[in-house]
Amino acid sequence: MSADALRPANLEEPRAVSARERDALIRELLGVVPSQGVLHDDEDLRPYECDGLSAYRRKPMLVVLPETIEQVQQVLRLCQAHQVPVVARGAGTGLSGGAFPLANGVLLGLAKFNRILAIDPDNRCARVQPGVRNLAISEAAAAHGLYYAPDPSSQIACSIGGNVAENAGGVHCLKYGLTVHNILELKVVTIDGELITLGGQSLDSPGYDLLALMTGSEGMLGVIVEITVKLLPRPERAQVLLAAFDNVERAGEAVAAIIGSGIIPAGLEMMDNNSIRAAEDFVHAGYPVEAEAILLCELDGTNAEVSEDIMQVRELLIAQGATEVRTAGDDQERLRFWAGRKAAFPAVGRLSPDYYCMDGTIPRKNLGQVLRRIGEMSDEFGLRVANVFHAGDGNLHPLILYDADTPGQLERTEDFGGRILELCVEYGGTITGEHGVGIEKLNQMCTQFTPDALTQFHAVKAAFDPRGLLNPGKAVPTLHRCAEFGAMHVHHGQLPHPDIPRF
Ligand SMILES: Cc1cc2nc3c(=O)[nH]c(=O)nc-3n(C[C@H](O)[C@H](O)[C@H](O)COP(=O)(O)OP(=O)(O)OC[C@H]3O[C@@H](n4cnc5c(N)ncnc54)[C@H](O)[C@@H]3O)c2cc1C
Repeated sequence: MSADALRPANLEEPRAVSARERDALIRELLGVVPSQGVLHDDEDLRPYECDGLSAYRRKPMLVVLPETIEQVQQVLRLCQAHQVPVVARGAGTGLSGGAFPLANGVLLGLAKFNRILAIDPDNRCARVQPGVRNLAISEAAAAHGLYYAPDPSSQIACSIGGNVAENAGGVHCLKYGLTVHNILELKVVTIDGELITLGGQSLDSPGYDLLALMTGSEGMLGVIVEITVKLLPRPERAQVLLAAFDNVERAGEAVAAIIGSGIIPAGLEMMDNNSIRAAEDFVHAGYPVEAEAILLCELDGTNAEVSEDIMQVRELLIAQGATEVRTAGDDQERLRFWAGRKAAFPAVGRLSPDYYCMDGTIPRKNLGQVLRRIGEMSDEFGLRVANVFHAGDGNLHPLILYDADTPGQLERTEDFGGRILELCVEYGGTITGEHGVGIEKLNQMCTQFTPDALTQFHAVKAAFDPRGLLNPGKAVPTLHRCAEFGAMHVHHGQLPHPDIPRF
């Protein structure tokens, strides 16, 4: 395998599908899904050629848009019968290429599953279809004084099905947990077309925790067709502090100090100077553009709790060297502070023709050192970086700025991104915080996990999907790939565990 074959865009296709096989599959699909739900013309397929990782594009063989669970079951049965792989797609905002299509595969769009089926204020939960937008759940629950806590910055567009498949996080996950902590039950269609229910309406259920296993499984174990999410009461009060620093490392240390003090903010986010300037130009949030870093720290709870926490955190920030600390005076100002953070990715998109968003997690206490090392790498690779991230979780999002039209820059960016992920592992962290592995981080999975652990992952996949038809090639690298990447010991030409199927 050449070094180029190991690049994300060069995802291997499991097998070629002839024009005759494709036509036969289209005919059969038209028997189960309304004709406008089977797309095969070049022009109709083009919108599906990439997800949020738009550096890489490939047209799917077909797009199928079912409208009912029965249709999903039949589509999967047909794909299984024809041995055609299936890639599920929610809103296509994923940043690691999880919904990157296969040229010889079906892209199964869940966009038509866009109904909120029930809101149950007594049990504080909602039953929703997978294509419902994340924000739409909180909007619908607001009438009952409730909301859905995980709030990815993409919440205006991303689907709850995609959130479950990626175990999405967001600003408020520091206090309220990731997607996996905020769902009760999933209905899933297996590759055999069986409908199974995982979890339940109560807090615990017997048997293996397959609900947790399915969460974050990136469309590789089943297709999620219904989700019961937990709803939380809106806090009595939420208030945000904005602290400016003239040194990025000091801001990182302040994050560790806040968490170390025992206070758990509802959100604790950090932006460096490139991101601050970009966001300020874009949404005029009132950010101090001279600061090297800002922290946004939201406290929520009862009136009394928030007043006390705000005072303590303010003192702590000043003690940690903040050059300025502002408290949002009202809800309008609070939302304005957050507007800059939430719009930071598109804002950074205005700084250069392209950017590549990395996602890794490190222990909070190392934030300062890791940001310094990323700065040094930025000089080494000759590529600018903007940092905007969930600091309280230690979840970094370095955005590498590049120009895809300059020959070699995308490759340099990929190498730089890979080095950042390896740096996260070096500091005891992980190569993903919330965006998943997809195609983007396959090589670094070889750094993160031992061959034995990867073999267990393949065994789990094989238990759900023995022929490897669901999103093949994503999230878990083959041991062969790891050997080529130089991250695996090959003994007498033999890989470890040669008998386990790997997809
Ligand atoms: C500007 C921007 C900001 C972002 N901010 C955040 C953030 O703060 N936090 C965060 O976690 N993410 C963030 N993301 C990434 C992305 O929005 C999330 O990963 C989101 O969960 C993806 O949802 P989606 O509906 O777009 O899924 P897609 O991109 O369509 O799919 C993602 C993965 O889920 C699988 N999948 C989708 N639907 C199903 C289903 N019904 N059944 C089985 N598998 C399925 C796909 O196969 C794929 O592997 C951001 C993205 C952008 C563009």
